[in-house]
Amino acid sequence: MVEKNKVYEIQIIDLGHSGEGIGKVDGFTVFVEGGLPGDVIKVKTTVVKKNYATGKLLEMITPSNSRVEPTCAIAHKCGGCQIMHMDYQAQLDIKTSRVEETLKRIGKIDAKVLPTLGMDNPYWYRNKAQFPVGMTAGKAILGFYEKGSHNIVDTGYCHIQHPVNEKIVALMKDFIQKYKISVYDEKTKKGLIRHVVTKVGYQTGEVMVVVITNGKELPHQEQLIKLLKDNIEGLESIVQNINTQNTNVIFGRESITIYGRDHIVDYIGDLKFNISARSFFQVNPLQTKVLYEKALEYAQLKGEESVFDIYCGIGTISLFLAQKAKKVYGVEVVEAAIDDAKKNAEINGMTNTEFYVGEAEKVVPELYKQGIKADVVVVDPPRKGCDEAVLDTIVSMAPERIVYVSCNPATLARDLAYLNDRGYKAEEVQPVDMFPHTSHVETVVLMSRVEVNTMF
Ligand code: SAH
Repeated sequence: MVEKNKVYEIQIIDLGHSGEGIGKVDGFTVFVEGGLPGDVIKVKTTVVKKNYATGKLLEMITPSNSRVEPTCAIAHKCGGCQIMHMDYQAQLDIKTSRVEETLKRIGKIDAKVLPTLGMDNPYWYRNKAQFPVGMTAGKAILGFYEKGSHNIVDTGYCHIQHPVNEKIVALMKDFIQKYKISVYDEKTKKGLIRHVVTKVGYQTGEVMVVVITNGKELPHQEQLIKLLKDNIEGLESIVQNINTQNTNVIFGRESITIYGRDHIVDYIGDLKFNISARSFFQVNPLQTKVLYEKALEYAQLKGEESVFDIYCGIGTISLFLAQKAKKVYGVEVVEAAIDDAKKNAEINGMTNTEFYVGEAEKVVPELYKQGIKADVVVVDPPRKGCDEAVLDTIVSMAPERIVYVSCNPATLARDLAYLNDRGYKAEEVQPVDMFPHTSHVETVVLMSRVEVNTMF
């Protein structure tokens, strides 16, 4: 029996979904934050539930071979990176085995899982940073939230963000300090500056700074513009976004461009994208290219195909596919994203795409009823996976191939099993590391129709 507040010696054997170590005491599961597979540690239990316990790492007896010193000094405190204390190759290996194990356990899928595609340099990769702003002892602080709380770790330095952020954060602090601008307090709901969001184009070097305010007036705006303009190379856009709501959601509805353009430009491969303050864009552009090229390879397009891109966001995958297909239909529920998708098609001179706004589970069956068919279907759903109505319609359309892009191995496994029972076989599974040092894993799967073959 595992008891609360007792000390146990355990070996960590696995990593949980949020990067926590998992060990066993007499077969009973214990989660330990900071534990890595291979560690032998002393743990003090803090919570004991019916099926599991959580514990605190008290003492390291034998460290895991994959344990490294995190390159970031605040990695243990900050909520951003969960597994920076793990060697990068070991991170990739554990992502591969998590996908493999989840597909087997939940989906009974025994497909070939290729080694996770990682980055040559798994640092400085993020193109978007969101800094909450606070005040401690009369001093402005900007940084990242601590693990599981809204306390701010005061730093502009982040090893997975573009280096320009450190400069922007320092300048914003100077500005707030010098002109005594108030900062928002979540408890009292008073104060002006809530967040600073930055976006960077990796190919173009263009920079956008968004200042989110609790109110319309931004005092000393001219001085802020000058300060950023004089010091930030590539600065193309400063936007004020107004959010007066009592909410955790960062952005409000109204955005005002106070300097330059309302967007920056970046490329993924040869495709150009306009990125505005609020538009969604993949945060790791280098690995996005790797992921989409894989999806395109799996689609095996020859130029005559009709292709669906379901859950298409701003149409990034759709445009990749449109380079090689006859026609691409993109479906997405967020109207603003579809507006961006149409614009993106236009600035890339694509005339063979059509975008539909609405819930995929309604729009896709409707398009099928209208007689639109698909030779290849790509899906890239949110964490909860595909709606059954979407999967049923895909099966009715009987495309030769389905390319499934997923950010959640559990729902991927469930959906692959569903499709497997309806004539599709998972041929190849390729995890891609979109978010080094975090426990997230993205996977792209090629499924082929097998019904035709079973007739022989
Ligand atoms: N393929 C895109 C984005 C994928 S993220 C890219 O690579 O950039 C998943 C997308 O599914 C989000 O844009 C989300 O808004 C959308 N979505 C969520 N639920 C949906 C639904 N029921 N119908 C259609 N789209 C949905």
